[in-house]
Amino acid sequence: MISLDILTTDTTKDAQTVWKDCLRIIKENVPQITYNTWFLPIKPVNFALDTIEVQIPSKFFWEWVDEHYNTLLNNALREVIGENAKLTYSTYEEKDEVQISYPEKQIIKETPKVIEEPKPDSTFETYLNPKYTFDNFIKGDGNQLARAAAGAISDNPGGTSFNPFFVYGGVGLGKTHLIQAIGNKVVENFPSKRVIYLSSDHFTVEFVESVQSNKVNDFSNFYRSMDVLIIDDIQFLIGKEKTQDLFFHIFNTLHQLGKQIILSSDKPPKDLKGLDDRLISRFQWGLSADIQPPDLETRIAILNKKSSDYGMNISPEILEHIATNITSNIRELEGCLIKLLATASLNSKDITLDLTKRTVKEIATNRKFSISIESITKCVCDFLAVDENKIRDKTRKKEIVLARQVAMYLSNQMTKSSLKSIGLHFGGRDHSTVIHSCRSIEEGILLDKNLKETVDSIRTKIELNLF
Ligand code: ADP
Ligand code: MG
Repeated sequence: MISLDILTTDTTKDAQTVWKDCLRIIKENVPQITYNTWFLPIKPVNFALDTIEVQIPSKFFWEWVDEHYNTLLNNALREVIGENAKLTYSTYEEKDEVQISYPEKQIIKETPKVIEEPKPDSTFETYLNPKYTFDNFIKGDGNQLARAAAGAISDNPGGTSFNPFFVYGGVGLGKTHLIQAIGNKVVENFPSKRVIYLSSDHFTVEFVESVQSNKVNDFSNFYRSMDVLIIDDIQFLIGKEKTQDLFFHIFNTLHQLGKQIILSSDKPPKDLKGLDDRLISRFQWGLSADIQPPDLETRIAILNKKSSDYGMNISPEILEHIATNITSNIRELEGCLIKLLATASLNSKDITLDLTKRTVKEIATNRKFSISIESITKCVCDFLAVDENKIRDKTRKKEIVLARQVAMYLSNQMTKSSLKSIGLHFGGRDHSTVIHSCRSIEEGILLDKNLKETVDSIRTKIELNLF
């Protein structure tokens, strides 16, 4: 694209005003959710010579807008700028610019929704949990793009540019819920489509079993026969080279066949250090959408929905207290309601603000207490493939020393145990050994990115096991 910097002297209108005028027209013609999801993220950056330059989140985002709202956008631009209106875009991240002009109207293509009859051979466990649906997934600022893309995919699996669809975000924010909702909806819309949901751990276990029973081919062919493959928590493939390698081939086959791949992770693809670069680059082919912690309004909406699902009648004041104090995890919001319900019904009492305050406090305290040194040790050993018994021995083998140090470090960070009691758990070592271990991991993660990734992944895994 030609640089437009020197041409920005148009004094009549600036990019912001032009785009604002366009948005006004667009807003009148689409539902609010469409407007928020697909138009608000577009940022005007420049306007000159009838050309508006905008920035968008990704190329695929643009393809979607272009495919579905081409006519609307075209009309808005022409109305505001004139017959020669042009639009150029670059992505927030890459800034690779592409020029698009709107010489004539195009007809919006609508994907026809075909409802299919079930095929007799589609009998296998999908591992989908029917409780995860779009209907009970509350939309909010934090999950807008992910939710909208998920809806589009379930109407047309494999047929959008969102392939793979990669959802990422922190613990308890709805990744599993959303990706399973896609699976459930596809099964409902297209009963003959083969849909399967697995965590990456489950996938690994099945792979290892297939190796042991000499059935790797069957294993691989089974997954290659899917129309929709959903793999949760893909970050746990880190360190599992053989599983990654097989997954890479399955991914390629499915992608080439136009089958839908859906993945979730705690981080965006580019931050999955330790994962095969070939996989990371493929994960970026489609759409990556993050889920952010819900804002107060969304938290209240979630509590309202869940409490009425449980048949609870709770005052807005109480819901607001919960929503203000539990902020970063939707699973904890749910947990709080269940705890309130249990306490109130066991003691035949009403749910009062006082009871709520105590319950919210307890949840905060439990967060620290419910993580035990044992559960941390187990996670560390699983992750680093070290025998749990050896960690308490005197052995100085490098990988065991590392596992022991990481486990001590995380125990110190994530539990309220004293250094002394941590030492005792690891074969009766004294507290100075624990201090030494913590320091050496602290320093290690500053210098070694891989170690930092490993420790972060283990921490997430421990938190996941909590619930
Ligand atoms: P993650 O996989 O990101 O750790 P989950 O999908 O397991 O999180 O969500 C945790 C809990 O919170 C689940 O019970 C889920 O149903 C609920 N939840 C998450 N997001 C929403 C939402 N937007 N609306 C309603 N419930 C939600
Ligand atoms: Mg999950």
